[in-house]
Amino acid sequence: MSAEPKSAAALAQTAAPSEASRADDPEAPVRRALFQLLGVDGVYARSALYQDVLHRLDELLTRECDPRAEVLRFPPVMSRAQLERSGYLKSFPNLLGCVCALHGSEAQIRAAADAHESGGDWTGSLAASDLVLSPAACYPLYPLAAARGPLPEDGWIFDVAADCFRHEPSRSLDRLQSFRMREFVRIGSPEAIQTFRDQWMARARALAQELGLPCQIDVASDPFFGRVGQVMAVSQRQQSLKFELLVPYRGGATPTACMSFNYHRDHFGLAWDLRDTRGEAAHTGCVAFGMDRIVVALFCIHGLDPLRWPTSTKLALGL
Ligand code: ATP
Ligand code: ZN
Ligand code: MG
Repeated sequence: MSAEPKSAAALAQTAAPSEASRADDPEAPVRRALFQLLGVDGVYARSALYQDVLHRLDELLTRECDPRAEVLRFPPVMSRAQLERSGYLKSFPNLLGCVCALHGSEAQIRAAADAHESGGDWTGSLAASDLVLSPAACYPLYPLAAARGPLPEDGWIFDVAADCFRHEPSRSLDRLQSFRMREFVRIGSPEAIQTFRDQWMARARALAQELGLPCQIDVASDPFFGRVGQVMAVSQRQQSLKFELLVPYRGGATPTACMSFNYHRDHFGLAWDLRDTRGEAAHTGCVAFGMDRIVVALFCIHGLDPLRWPTSTKLALGL
């Protein structure tokens, strides 16, 4: 259930007007005005003003999205078996969060809960459930698409989103444990994916410009785990499989990746037996928008009052 959204003007007044920008940490006033700690690093409640801008950004992306895209909204959890089959544990085992629960008889569950009441540890009695926390919005899509049978001639385009989890606690607002991701996903021929990705890299640069966000697009690699992961990262870079749109908003710190443009080749096609009309493994690619990172960047760069943001930013967001 959601109440009627307040006007941007009304919401702006709820941001602390007395926050003075600290030159050394542009996140500090944003954190004080818009975020509330929930007891664990990287997990926050966000204010109405923040949520309003995030909602407007979502609407902007909906206007930008290919009208042929099928919209799917995923919950924050997904099938553990599906993520295992996707190969996630090979690449990012350190980032994964698994849903655990107390299993067993009433007596066993009661004993575990009572252990906590008497000052002991109850977590040792937990066992994995069949759910993990989704680490990216597109993982649940590939098995769902594969179950539909061979791709149509033109392939598919999807518009997906989810609250994602990654076990990477940090004090910085640009690295959360729980954050929102929107993705446009293309499934089809290698040429279709390349075209989709190239078009989106150009479009994303223009979008960042409209939003008044300085940016550069660079080749990138995923943070693959461990020493073997370093080899995977080098190979990914050599093949230019991943690009990121980087926004410098944290003073001297390295710019923050706010969007990524990923070509998975036939990785998911093979994992899920996702085939095109000729029986070849389908190729896939996705454009991922780090919704929280973009909104944090907007507030850090333009200040706490959206009504004072640059005209083109306000126009793009309907402010
Ligand atoms: P980074 O190198 O910054 O960790 P990533 O390569 O892990 O990013 P992707 O897997 O491409 O990121 O995720 C898509 C987008 O989701 C990123 O471009 C970013 O905007 C956002 N994102 C990723 N991790 C986080 C996080 N911990 N907190 C907030 N946003 C995130
Ligand atoms: Zn993706
Ligand atoms: Mg990462």
